[in-house]
Amino acid sequence: MPECIDLIGRIEPKLQQVFFTNKRVIISASSGTGLMEAAIRNTVNKKILNCVNGAFSDRWRQITEANGKENEVLEVQWGQAILPEMVVERLATGEFDAVAITHNETSTGVTNPIKEIAAAVRALPNGNDIMILVDSVSGLSGARLEFDAWDLDVALTASQKAFALPPGLAFCAVSDRAMEKAKTVPNRGYYFDFLVLEKYLLKDQTPATPAISLLNALDLQLDKMLAEGIEARFARHLAMRNRTIAWAKSKGFEIFSAAGYESPTVTCVANNLEIDIPALNNFLRGRGMFLSNGYGAKLKNKTFRIAHMGDLQMADMEALFGAIDAFMAQ
Ligand SMILES: *Cc1c(COP(=O)(O)O)cnc(C)c1O
Repeated sequence: MPECIDLIGRIEPKLQQVFFTNKRVIISASSGTGLMEAAIRNTVNKKILNCVNGAFSDRWRQITEANGKENEVLEVQWGQAILPEMVVERLATGEFDAVAITHNETSTGVTNPIKEIAAAVRALPNGNDIMILVDSVSGLSGARLEFDAWDLDVALTASQKAFALPPGLAFCAVSDRAMEKAKTVPNRGYYFDFLVLEKYLLKDQTPATPAISLLNALDLQLDKMLAEGIEARFARHLAMRNRTIAWAKSKGFEIFSAAGYESPTVTCVANNLEIDIPALNNFLRGRGMFLSNGYGAKLKNKTFRIAHMGDLQMADMEALFGAIDAFMAQ
């Protein structure tokens, strides 16, 4: 319908602003994981380096292996960041045509230095032949990511994290280099074939039914984001991050994430005081709040995570800290 074509036509340039790109931003009726699979299916022929520093980055590895692509894994201790020198050391063998990395590792509250990693990859002799695939599901629009300036190939995100929308939509910027590469990759699949998705996007359409109700929400939310200003949005996230860390330390908690790489959108607090996190959450729920226990068997009850992303404001954080203080004073 023409109304839907108008809607996608309105959304696309606003998404490009949020991704800091002039390239195509594909809109998909899926969660973020769908576009992670798309990135792998469309851009890898030889071998991919999967960078793992937590539960979500391990998903890159799982998707790569589920799709029968060759890979190697670069894993650092959870809570640490992936650093440029580690990545280029592995890529220097020349066997790789792609690297997958998580921008903001939601399980550990670590933001990897994507800008520096991408610059180091591009400086390799075959650096321009390596696809740089970035999962920014919990980062983009809250933690800075500049798709064009950082020379990335695929950067993807989803509606339900820093975009603060209902779940069900995912977005990815795709470089010209990645589009050219896709033409050489067999078995790109059907639903997530970048070449088909782009063909329709050029007409402000989608090859399969668009999630129109969610697109309406996205259109409104993008207006609100751009009215706040993307730089102001980043600054708000950083201020909430800094306040969260200061509050946690003032209570005697340690921060799980490596110093200097703490995420602007989620703080992972070490539970060195051994508070009862399920009991804390019951207490918080009674006050209309909730936080996340540590992710997975490794981190549950040993850490907890405080989100400071999307529409949250400093006053929301203060209310949360006040409630946790009250719980701890009991
Ligand atoms: C939530 C999350 C995912 C999974 O995204 P879905 O939208 O649930 O598929 C992947 N990566 C990161 C970093 C996440 O935070």
